[in-house]
Amino acid sequence: MKKKFCPQCGREETDDNPLMDELCKKCSNIRLLEGYKDPKIRICSNCGSYFFRNKLLHPIDMDFEENVKKIVKEMFESKLKFYQKAEDIKSTVKINLPKIFHHSPGNTPIIDIELSVTAIINSKRVRENHAIPLKISFISCKRCNMQNSKYYEAILQIRPYSEKIVNYIKYVVSQRKDVFITQEEELKEGVNFYITSKSFAMILLSDLKNKFDGETKITRELYSQKKDGTAIYRSTILFRLSKPL
Ligand SMILES: [Zn+2]
Ligand SMILES: [Zn+2]
Repeated sequence: MKKKFCPQCGREETDDNPLMDELCKKCSNIRLLEGYKDPKIRICSNCGSYFFRNKLLHPIDMDFEENVKKIVKEMFESKLKFYQKAEDIKSTVKINLPKIFHHSPGNTPIIDIELSVTAIINSKRVRENHAIPLKISFISCKRCNMQNSKYYEAILQIRPYSEKIVNYIKYVVSQRKDVFITQEEELKEGVNFYITSKSFAMILLSDLKNKFDGETKITRELYSQKKDGTAIYRSTILFRLSKPL
């Protein structure tokens, strides 16, 4: 094949620097990757949830490091902007976490991203490699904050103690990402669960009524007042088994 040279810089055409129209890629100012917006990546250091368009989303992977990698990849790729006339764009993104990887709220580690893109521009296959450092932020999400607090809206009392019911309640709550048991009290006469959502505690109560034979009693006490004077109540919900299980 006849060697071709760039008329501007005199470089010989190579795979890495093909001639585009007249000039070589380096001289032509054509960049396959035109830019990217730094995605603002915030990941909960405790549960791995992350913010996407200001919404808190569930983790993608059970493994914390895999989860971080997948989130970074997904969010970074969505911010890439390629040359308009490029066709058949193929990109691969490799995420390199720092060797020492502290994840606690407030930490902002730098993640190294290796991006390689290939595409066809002016019927030439073009390839670019980029190394991009990306800062992410570890935070503590509001769900975890709530779980770590002693916050509750309802106390669910089970009388007498029943392992079957305790396991059932724990299982049902674990399926919910927005509801927590912030405290569990074992007493002689039974067990109390402090639950962060009153409406969920009521759903749980009707579940128990359907599944197990027992009586219920709901009492509420004034807890505090909102600024506009509306009263805030905390409920105590009792479920008493007709006979021990
Ligand atoms: Zn050139
Ligand atoms: Zn969290």
